[in-house]
Amino acid sequence: MYSELIHALNGKAQLVAVSKTQPADRIMQLYALGQRDFGENKVQEWEKKVDHLPSDIRWHLIGSLQTNKVKYVVGKVHLIHSVDRMKLLKEINKESAKAGIVSRILIQCKIAREETKAGADESSMEQMISAAERGMFPNVEIKGLMGMASFTENEEVVRHEFRQLRAHFERLKFRLGKEDFDTLSMGMSGDYRIAIEEGSTMVRIGSLLFGERK
Ligand SMILES: *Cc1c(COP(=O)(O)O)cnc(C)c1O
Repeated sequence: MYSELIHALNGKAQLVAVSKTQPADRIMQLYALGQRDFGENKVQEWEKKVDHLPSDIRWHLIGSLQTNKVKYVVGKVHLIHSVDRMKLLKEINKESAKAGIVSRILIQCKIAREETKAGADESSMEQMISAAERGMFPNVEIKGLMGMASFTENEEVVRHEFRQLRAHFERLKFRLGKEDFDTLSMGMSGDYRIAIEEGSTMVRIGSLLFGERK
């Protein structure tokens, strides 16, 4: 499956292999094939695995993050995809300053209509971006946006949601005028083909690679 997927992505989007609930040996199977970007959604679960795995793995934190856990991930993960509120952004900046580093993050936007899907609404996203423009977060680099589409068979709904996210991304890229605002994380096992058609630069894929989670 791995090589088929790499082929399907065709260099358009980077692959984050979502290894939540997977043991270290399954991760190593993909590592042996050359995969280096892995995604986890729970800090505690990730912490248990990380010491058993090669240090050149780039970890992506894709799940909701509590502010009191920020100190455990800063400096250890490559990219935090799930920054959905100001308080969290402030905390990441604070801990990164303490560590003397700059952390890469994505702002997670709410695009799905379902109430359950996490993410910042437009006004909260605007607040974070304008605070960043005012220089409030010198120890954070906002690399782009992340979003999850509705869980539905209706492709048009999914496509519409991805398109909305892409539009936010392009608008912010123009407004910020920064080359390093270049990451649009959208697309999972069920909808990555649509996401790529709609301009995704990074897909987060779990079950398609590892099989259905129990
Ligand atoms: C679990 C998860 C994924 C991967 O889901 P699959 O459907 O297994 O590919 C992607 N993004 C987030 C935020 C997730 O929690």
